[in-house]
Amino acid sequence: MKKLNEMDNQDFLQIEYISKSYNESSIPLYISYPTLTCWKNNSDENNYIEGIKNENNPFLYFHFPYCKSACYYCLCYKITGSAEETIDKYLDYMEKEIDLKSRFMPKDNMSVTQMHWGGGTPTNLTMRQLERIYRKISDNFNIVSDKNSSISIESYPDDTLITFEKLRLLKDLGFTEISFGIQDFDERVQKIINRDCKFEVVEKLFNEARRIGLRIHVDLCYGLPFQDMTGLKNTLEKIVRLQPDRIAMENYSHFPAFYPLQRKIPTDSVPNSFMRIVLSILAKEVLTENNYIRIGDHYVRKGNLMHQAFIENRINRDLMGYSIADRRQVIAFGSSGISCINNTYYHNKKLIEDYFSELDKNELPLEKSESHKLDQDDKIRASIILKWLLTYYQIDKDAVSKEFNINFDEYFKEELKQLNRFEKDGIILCDGNKILITEMGEFTAKHVAFVFDKYYRKDI
Ligand code: SF4
Repeated sequence: MKKLNEMDNQDFLQIEYISKSYNESSIPLYISYPTLTCWKNNSDENNYIEGIKNENNPFLYFHFPYCKSACYYCLCYKITGSAEETIDKYLDYMEKEIDLKSRFMPKDNMSVTQMHWGGGTPTNLTMRQLERIYRKISDNFNIVSDKNSSISIESYPDDTLITFEKLRLLKDLGFTEISFGIQDFDERVQKIINRDCKFEVVEKLFNEARRIGLRIHVDLCYGLPFQDMTGLKNTLEKIVRLQPDRIAMENYSHFPAFYPLQRKIPTDSVPNSFMRIVLSILAKEVLTENNYIRIGDHYVRKGNLMHQAFIENRINRDLMGYSIADRRQVIAFGSSGISCINNTYYHNKKLIEDYFSELDKNELPLEKSESHKLDQDDKIRASIILKWLLTYYQIDKDAVSKEFNINFDEYFKEELKQLNRFEKDGIILCDGNKILITEMGEFTAKHVAFVFDKYYRKDI
């Protein structure tokens, strides 16, 4: 694809056509397939318990919903400004959940090499609290922390929340990776989304984290209010100077009708779909010219393990994003955590009070009406949407047919008819056994994925 500064009016008219015809805000966010609103509620606590009974190498996820302050663009469920005692009470209950679940799990041969702490802002916990909950986890699960493990934590790079001392504690406890939520360094963008994240602070934390041996991920966002090409380029150039191991480049979702805090953001300050594509092209240009390769909406540093796995077709996309490891068994702890056990999704209680009250009854704190056991058709479509289209930007029809013992063209004959329009618009290219998303199509890949989502189809 041409570089932005080589494009002419015809190219920009093509981008305009694509942006108007394929507006991303009409497509669900695919962190699971089916998406949460389409779950059928066809499993229960007994299946959860059965599913973890023999599990000795699960992926563990811990959710901490507490943040110092609320960022207006954020879609996460969070609680702001909580006192230390409030968070301690939450940890009391999280410990109960650890006891409850680990009781059913094997005591011997347990080995956990993959764990993630997200939120919220887990680094909002004090050093004492971080140590307390980490120790509780490692007393109940054998956490293996070495160069091949992924023991990771999200952070807001604010030097009042995360100090060098805290970074060193994280490393000493066993964390191997930290992700810094940055989004954009442009002050005007930060102000309107209520964030304060200075490059000088990030740079110092970054250098210290790297010095002590933590791998570093960075979260950026495009399509934020007031974001423009100059500001984003400036942010990207600062980031590539730091050379994080991985960069997530998410598209901002503006849904003020569902997320009240987003009503503080003037809708007209949010870049339109044309500008979003331009910003996304800019990000790809800067990052790929500076030692990164694109994997879906993430960029990884050339030559690292993830890059190698991508070449070898070994990347998975799941609830936690992209990974090399097999994370089919995810056990989540904390309010609103999502588990995936034996191809079944389960949602923990979202509201803290409900989460506490289930644990007071010694019951798993699950949302009783939010589970979904994948059937064979779900598994096939999940593979096409999450792995093939949103990771590899293609479908290898033979590989899918072989893996699921189907005839792809027969199974998806309705979907293939719908893809004609995408081919005509230059979004995909049908090349024998492969359906390839073109470079321009990468910015609308979710629309191609949506064709394979049966839960939104009107004809069934
Ligand atoms: S973006 Fe991060 S720090 Fe900001 S409110 Fe959301 S979870 Fe909290």
